[in-house]
Amino acid sequence: MNIFLTYDYELFFGKSAGSVDKCMIEPTNELLKIAKEFKVKMTFFVDIGYLIKLKEFLPAYPELQLDDSKVRKQLAHILEEGHDIQLHIHPHWEKSYYENGKWVFVTENAYKLADFNEEEIKRIVVSYKNILDEIVGYKTTAFRAGGWCIQPFHKLNAIFQEVGIKYDSSVFPGGSFSSTDYSFDFTKAPTKSHYSFEDDECQEVENGPFIEYPISSRRYSPIFYWRLYILGRLFPSQHKMIGDGDFLAQPGRKQSVLTNFTWNHISTDGYYASKLEETLNSFEQNNTEDLVVIGHPKGMTLFSLKATKKFISKAHTKHVFRTFKELI
Ligand SMILES: [Zn+2]
Repeated sequence: MNIFLTYDYELFFGKSAGSVDKCMIEPTNELLKIAKEFKVKMTFFVDIGYLIKLKEFLPAYPELQLDDSKVRKQLAHILEEGHDIQLHIHPHWEKSYYENGKWVFVTENAYKLADFNEEEIKRIVVSYKNILDEIVGYKTTAFRAGGWCIQPFHKLNAIFQEVGIKYDSSVFPGGSFSSTDYSFDFTKAPTKSHYSFEDDECQEVENGPFIEYPISSRRYSPIFYWRLYILGRLFPSQHKMIGDGDFLAQPGRKQSVLTNFTWNHISTDGYYASKLEETLNSFEQNNTEDLVVIGHPKGMTLFSLKATKKFISKAHTKHVFRTFKELI
């Protein structure tokens, strides 16, 4: 089996963005240590919009200099260690700004690429990708949409082909959510490990120009989420996120997961990491071709770091840890 350990490298986008140290630098360093110990490679989907905005606001706010240099230094370190960096676009940076010592996020009509017009989408995709490619020193070929909001993909198809994006990893089969900011519906996604597509990321097209590597997913019971919330209260030292910001609100989601079975990612974040070994076993039994795990440095906990380490220690002797860079 091919295992892709993928991390969305970013701040929070709610009331508080959190600090660079707690959301990015410290948890990423912990992940890199684990990767080094077991000689496995990871893919980091870097929220390049953040670096673009840092540059824009640096002249007026010199305190941002330190954040900028810490992130750039860590990205260089990630590459030195042989890991992969790929493109993650949160287009709401376009309307967001820095003021009175904090980032102010404007997500309304800006959280999805599809919220912008054709010309703007083109400008965002081209400039964000070029800036990231320059930082990493190679042409990135894989993409993950911010907040999984890749739909409707026909608005992105042409420009993605033009800039050389070939792989996508935004879909998680079964997942769907809609709010003023979010909008995705992957309930009709193929359940294959990977597949080609063209105009619709949930519709397989033989020899299509793109290949989807969906984030692996499963159905979670309400009990799982009750445990998650209760453990967080009872044992904060183990279950509190290292990241110190606030999530962008997802109205109604908490109630929904506590009362219904819901599809969500296979993830190394927080309590989700408790399902990694069970997933590995079931994927092995089913001879699944790829396991794509998502995580966020900001969403790691002491518990999830331990569980991730245990998962990698079990999996690395039997399976191949792969990155998107190697797929070309
Ligand atoms: Zn993101």
